[in-house]
Amino acid sequence: MGYKKKEQYDEKATEGLIGNYKHVLDLLGEDSSREGLVKTPERLAKAMQFCTQGYNQDANKIINSAKFHENISEMIVVKDIELYSLCEHHILPFFGKAHIAYIPNGWITGLSKIARVVDVFARRLQVQERLTVQIMNAIKETLNPIGVGVVIEAKHLCMMMRGVQKQNSVTTTSAFDGEFMKNATRSEFLKLISTDLSR
Ligand SMILES: [Zn+2]
Repeated sequence: MGYKKKEQYDEKATEGLIGNYKHVLDLLGEDSSREGLVKTPERLAKAMQFCTQGYNQDANKIINSAKFHENISEMIVVKDIELYSLCEHHILPFFGKAHIAYIPNGWITGLSKIARVVDVFARRLQVQERLTVQIMNAIKETLNPIGVGVVIEAKHLCMMMRGVQKQNSVTTTSAFDGEFMKNATRSEFLKLISTDLSR
C-alpha cells in the first residue's frame, strides 16, 4: 500500500461546530437540510479545524527538532513561501508570500522548518502584522541569530470582496531584528527578495 495520510479531527469540537454551522446556514436564509448543504456543516467544521491547526503546534519545537551547528555567517534567505491565513476580524482568507532571512550565529535549521513555522502561525486567526512578528520571534528565540528579517506580502479577501472592494491592493508588512536594523543588511535582503535569479 502506498502513502496514506490520515486526517484527525477532535470529535467533540467537530460535533459542536456542525450544530452551530447548521444554525448559521439557516440564519443566513438557507435551508441547511437541502441536498447540497446536508454535509456542508461537517465539511466546514473540518476545514476550519484544518485552517486553525496552528493553535496545537509549537514553532519553537519544530525548529529545535532540526537545529544544526554550522559556522556560516552569510545571510540565509528563504523567499516566496506560500502563505494562507484567516483574518481575525472577518474570518476571511488572506494569502500571499513570506520572505525570511537570518544571519546564523553558530546554528542553522532545515529550510523546510522555516516554511513550517510560517504555517504554524498562519493557520490561526491572525492579523498580518502579528503574524510577521511571531515568525521573526520564533527564529530569534530558537536560533539566536545575529539578525533576522521577515517580509510578508498578502492580499486580503475582506478588502477585496467586501468593504472597500479593492481588488489589487497588496499589504506588505515587515519585521527586523539585530543586524537587519542596519540599512545595508536590510537593503541586501530586500534586493535579494525582489530580484528573480531564475531568469
Ligand atoms: Zn478582515
